[in-house]
Amino acid sequence: MRTLIRNVRLFDGERTVAGADVLIDGDRIAEPGGPAEAEVDGTGRTLLPGLIDAHAHAFDGDLEEALKFGVTTELDMNNLPSVLAVQRRQAAERDDVADLRSSGMIATAPGGHPTQIMTPDVLAALGADGGLDTVADPGQAKAFVEARLAEGADYLKIAIDDGAVSGMKLPALTPEVAAVLVEAGHAAGLKVVAHTVTAREALVALDAGVDGLAHLYSDVDREDADELAARIASYDAFVVSTITFIEAVTGDPGQAELLRDPRTAGRMSARSKATFGREFTDIPMHSQGVLNAAHAAAALLRAGVPVLAGTDATPFGPVHGAGLHHELLLLTEAGLTPEQALRAATSLPARCFGLSDRGRVAPGLRADLLLVDGDPTTDITATRSITDVWRAGARQG
Ligand SMILES: [Zn+2]
Repeated sequence: MRTLIRNVRLFDGERTVAGADVLIDGDRIAEPGGPAEAEVDGTGRTLLPGLIDAHAHAFDGDLEEALKFGVTTELDMNNLPSVLAVQRRQAAERDDVADLRSSGMIATAPGGHPTQIMTPDVLAALGADGGLDTVADPGQAKAFVEARLAEGADYLKIAIDDGAVSGMKLPALTPEVAAVLVEAGHAAGLKVVAHTVTAREALVALDAGVDGLAHLYSDVDREDADELAARIASYDAFVVSTITFIEAVTGDPGQAELLRDPRTAGRMSARSKATFGREFTDIPMHSQGVLNAAHAAAALLRAGVPVLAGTDATPFGPVHGAGLHHELLLLTEAGLTPEQALRAATSLPARCFGLSDRGRVAPGLRADLLLVDGDPTTDITATRSITDVWRAGARQG
């Protein structure tokens, strides 16, 4: 099947051109030319690469919800083997769910984050058949990484979070254990990402050698943002935003705007809608985290650090799919231009995670595409005016 999208404003993952023709040939993007069985009029519309959420946790129904919103790939950042096996199978066999990459289980200290939230009740609700493996000392690091590789991990995630930012006391990986884990991950060819929520934790992780941080730090105010960003730039790492998550865990009602916007509310599942207003009391975060993270995003951008869009979506909120559109709005409010925000959800995560077949619109790449009314390069919320989504060339109904 060949489908020609004609006369469309094209954001190709890096920049925007007017009046483009884009050909979908099977599951790939192809050079326009020759006959096409179907045509789509792109006049007044913008074509973008399918969106990539660089921080999510995918459980049953989540990948379907993501794809409805044009999120064609989710980067899962901690999951349980029994759940993950099902999600991977769905992503491999179905064309109506987002594609998935995953770290598998996060490496944390016994009793460390996020074991405090993964209680027996939560695990049962998620359909998991066991809790997290943990890493107590450097001697256990290699076996932990080998177990993740055996489960098919695409990258490694470690947690460095002692809870102190919100007065909790959680055991955390020591710098020594973190460094051994990173070394074992790199030796196995995996990128390594760290859960950290403060500047101190971020620097411990970066000193241990991680390739990226899974959250913006939440405890640095505007005055100190540029100095820290310059320091972080020297590590040549990326940072995933997750301001949406920081909102959710600090009780900021910001993302309720998704329920007021008919473009998102009209597409959202009842299960997603039911997560709004949920209180998160057991996740460490600075009370001014939203404001601080916004300053951090802008400062990191000024310092040349890649900031990737991520939501930390879970079945309990933030929501899959719609949440990424909210994150894009928050990134522009933090000071990114709409094009910078769009890069953060397309070409940048693809590059930082080595996904060379997606994240841009170019011949030969996977036909993961999002077509919207209007121009999200001037009004970021136009990403919500979805007219079509293709997932590896499969047009969604
Ligand atoms: Zn997460």
